[in-house]
Amino acid sequence: MCGIVGYIGEKRAQPILISGLKRLEYRGYDSAGIATIDGKSKVTLLRAKGKVAELDEKVTTHQKQDTVGIGHTRWATHGEPSKRNAHPHHVGEIYLVHNGIIENYQDLKEMLVAHDYDFKSDTDTEVLTALIDYLYKDSSNLLAAVAGALKMVVGAYGIALFAEENPDEILIARKGSPLIVGVGAGEVFIASDASALVGHTDQVIYLH
Ligand code: GLU
Repeated sequence: MCGIVGYIGEKRAQPILISGLKRLEYRGYDSAGIATIDGKSKVTLLRAKGKVAELDEKVTTHQKQDTVGIGHTRWATHGEPSKRNAHPHHVGEIYLVHNGIIENYQDLKEMLVAHDYDFKSDTDTEVLTALIDYLYKDSSNLLAAVAGALKMVVGAYGIALFAEENPDEILIARKGSPLIVGVGAGEVFIASDASALVGHTDQVIYLH
């Protein structure tokens, strides 16, 4: 289990992501991270081992005005609790958070290593991130790359991701792990459950 949050709108994303992660901390708390992106595709990736409070401290010294971002609080299944294994994972163009387990990640990893991908973490999630990057490089179509990658994956997932080239777009998908969308005025939230959206919106869509 873990917690996923996301935001796309006009407000600063960092405090919204941090407060959402604090509410989701009961789902997992061995590390946490957020990635935000500005309109010029500059990404700020902050990750910390331990509780969301550790991450929050980092954010106070790296404050950004970015209005789009994703965040994660981790409950490790593949790879020890560490900053290196913390989400969001970043490979090439793609930044991604994941709740769940990719069962066939070893086979996919071997295929990607044969295509010159290096891996910085021990997680199944980084493999999925690399797989999406690989397919995205081929097609330049993010939706098609995500759909193609998820057809190759065996396992359970809730994911949220963005690509550096598309700073206005977050893609999400789920199978087996929960994910909801909260709709506000000119803004959209993503979360593992509605508790993360308290104070923001009570208009919630449950993805099936
Ligand atoms: N399998 C992923 C990992 O170990 C995600 C675990 C989770 O759901 O927090 O990093």
